[in-house]
Amino acid sequence: MGTLQLEVVTPDKTVVSAQVEMVVCPGVEGEFGVLPQHVSLLSALKIGALRYRAEGKDEYVFISGGFADVNNNVLSVLAESAEQAADIDAARAQAARERAEKRLAEKQEGLDQVRAEAALQRAMTRLQVVQFLG
Ligand code: ATP
Repeated sequence: MGTLQLEVVTPDKTVVSAQVEMVVCPGVEGEFGVLPQHVSLLSALKIGALRYRAEGKDEYVFISGGFADVNNNVLSVLAESAEQAADIDAARAQAARERAEKRLAEKQEGLDQVRAEAALQRAMTRLQVVQFLG
């Protein structure tokens, strides 16, 4: 069936650069799969888990939203931040979760609700990705 090239990059670094058998992306309108020789595609991504299969093994990557571009058998994911499951610091994500929950509960004047909700979503999703590791 062959493979496709997966590149997951952030402004700081390349998080994944690998030949893979398939990818499932967290699209804003729902998850979508990308197999080798997929047609060209550009899609916005939401905060979520990207899953890919390489050498028969499933791997999970946290994605803070961004864009997925499929062209010539290369899937490029551009995200503000992204981490492989093994690189996620669960204690940091837990602390970020508690901070965001406290902000949202206190509702102080000047609270940027959208920003606090996005921070909470990132933290909760990182914790979910860590759990996928088993
Ligand atoms: P925090 O409040 O803990 O900084 P955040 O969601 O605001 O979390 P981001 O803005 O998404 O953080 O990311 C900033 C940088 O820190 C990125 O390089 C990201 O990969 C890294 N990062 C954030 N949280 C974690 C984590 N729990 N484990 C590993 N790296 C993380």
